[in-house]
Amino acid sequence: MIRFELHELLLVYAGGFVLAIFLAWWAQSIVRSSRERRALKNVLRCGFCAHEFRDETGTPLPRCPSCGGHVERKVLSRL
Ligand SMILES: [Zn+2]
Repeated sequence: MIRFELHELLLVYAGGFVLAIFLAWWAQSIVRSSRERRALKNVLRCGFCAHEFRDETGTPLPRCPSCGGHVERKVLSRL
């Protein structure tokens, strides 16, 4: 049997609690970033008029529905 002093036991419990919170935050962060990536997968922003639209056709240079210009596919990020 492992013997702990009271202050060591408190330290182990506090460390375990902080570790559990950190792991929950880390897992939630991974889930949130993957959802955000999935949500912005086919969203494009026009370089001419800054119009954002969803294009799921898969064409390399889709046309902007607002101004008709060709839009390059780039990964959008929300900060
Ligand atoms: Zn446009």
